[in-house]
Amino acid sequence: DADRILTSQRKPEDVDAALRPKTLDEFVGQKGARENLRVFIDAAKGRGEALDHVLFFGPPGLGKTTLAQIIARELGVGFRATSGPVIAKSGDLAALLTNLEEGDVLFVDEIHRLAPAVEEVLYPAMEDRALDLMIGEGPSARSVRIDLPRFTLVGATTRQGLLTTPLRDRFGIPVRLNFYSVDELQKVVTRAAKLLDLHVAPDGAAEIAKRSRGTPRIAGRLLRRVRDFANVAGEETVGAKVADAALNRLEVDALGLDAMDRRYLTMIADIYRGGPVGVETLAAGLSEPRDTIEEVIEPYLIQVGLVARTARGRCLNGPAWKHLGIAPPRDTQD
Ligand code: ADP
Repeated sequence: DADRILTSQRKPEDVDAALRPKTLDEFVGQKGARENLRVFIDAAKGRGEALDHVLFFGPPGLGKTTLAQIIARELGVGFRATSGPVIAKSGDLAALLTNLEEGDVLFVDEIHRLAPAVEEVLYPAMEDRALDLMIGEGPSARSVRIDLPRFTLVGATTRQGLLTTPLRDRFGIPVRLNFYSVDELQKVVTRAAKLLDLHVAPDGAAEIAKRSRGTPRIAGRLLRRVRDFANVAGEETVGAKVADAALNRLEVDALGLDAMDRRYLTMIADIYRGGPVGVETLAAGLSEPRDTIEEVIEPYLIQVGLVARTARGRCLNGPAWKHLGIAPPRDTQD
């Protein structure tokens, strides 16, 4: 997945920081989430309290990290970031928590990947702002309680269902992020182009937006690549034609699908006659981890109606056959 231009997962070359909106007002789209956060932030500030713990869930690249940073900035507090797999031992988390300043935001990306022992430490920290540490071993062991500063935990995960119930229940503000509309992505592209000092015409921004899989991170990445093609071709302005030519060269098709997506769809079409086929079977056939298929490839294909996730497995919908240019088998209902 790391080689795909369309991956929604972060790549080293995504200089994400440069394009990140810094305030809620600058943040494009996710209207409902934005409006609610505005209320909760203003209320917490008004009362002089720490914001309740926030859980962001949704596919990669939709702005979870960006929103966590915006929350800290809007609250006027410090921002610390870490991720589930990085916190190996409960002691690591204890060290992080005891180093927080009053009111700080602690951002934990991939929070569903916390080790169970680490998660146990998090419960009293979230609920009572306290750490229960065991000192010593055997019969002389005793537990001491350490008070923590007030802080806001902001967790991010690709799917809410991956979290254990006790952890999920401790977030007062769960926020679901959805794929962006083409209009919203066009705004993201236009804004990013300004920051990159690149002249993009409205139809050029629309073309990139249409092919970005509903994902701002991908829109930013495609914009950078289109800029490279435009520069080399000596084009001053990126219009629809320039954008289309560049995206075709990058093998990003009209729907914003790439070779990996087409391999996925073609496998279901050719080998499984349109499905249903289990995700494990597809993962083995495509030599991709199941997680990548479920969290990176499928969500967008399902969102645009090409694939259905059923109890018996994955099935192609009518538009997928059309997109592939393959005739569906006669006994297919779609
Ligand atoms: P996530 O944490 O969900 O994987 P990020 O917050 O890292 O996603 O966002 C990925 C990139 O997309 C960042 O570079 C950011 O600038 C851009 N981005 C995300 N959401 C928006 C938005 N609403 N408006 C403009 N740019 C955005």
